Amino acid sequence: MMTVEKINVEEYRQTEDRKEYLKAYYRKRIAVDKLYGYKSPSPELREYTFKRKNRLKNEVFEHYGRQCLYCGEIREEYLCLDHVNNDGYEYRNKNIKGWYTGAGWLKRNSWPNNVVQILCYNCNQKKYLKRFKKDSYSRITLYWQRIKLSVKEKYGNKCAVCGCNDIEILQLDHVNGGGNAERRELGKGRKGVGARKIYKKLYDEPNTLPEYRLLCSNCNMVHI
Ligand SMILES: [Zn+2]
Ligand SMILES: [Zn+2]
Repeated sequence: MMTVEKINVEEYRQTEDRKEYLKAYYRKRIAVDKLYGYKSPSPELREYTFKRKNRLKNEVFEHYGRQCLYCGEIREEYLCLDHVNNDGYEYRNKNIKGWYTGAGWLKRNSWPNNVVQILCYNCNQKKYLKRFKKDSYSRITLYWQRIKLSVKEKYGNKCAVCGCNDIEILQLDHVNGGGNAERRELGKGRKGVGARKIYKKLYDEPNTLPEYRLLCSNCNMVHI
């Protein structure tokens, strides 16, 4: 007779390292599923999670403001948490990310100042790009930049949904989805390489393809 591995999840819950907690949690889940068979979450549980997420999100807005700090965007679906000191990487490494665990961490640490701020996805993207702006680029980078710019021009240089024409934040969107799969396939597993190859494909194509369009970060994030 199999027994469920005894893991005290609570022991990990208090630790700073979210990753350890999640590891313990999933080890336990897998053991339980093996024993009793996997059950997908009930509608009640789904609703509970959804409500809890929304409640947390609301609390975040109450503490950090309900609009983008840079441009004043107030539509909540476009707002995200930005790490003020660009140290999001460290938090993500500890698995403190997203509206659910990220907000939970903030709450447990009594809403610290100067860790996160509210930005819209567009401003977040621009802040990110600004960090990596250089005075000069290598020839290869310049080549890919030129390709990207001419593809964006071919596709109208503006967001297909809101019409925003800030070239920096325009991204290629797969109208029918499947972007990840295509990037993986073209890049032979390396998505970054695949993304460039999609631009090259569209660059070589004489006409615009209906499967692709340009969206700004905001519109791309909410998947209209
Ligand atoms: Zn903004
Ligand atoms: Zn847009």
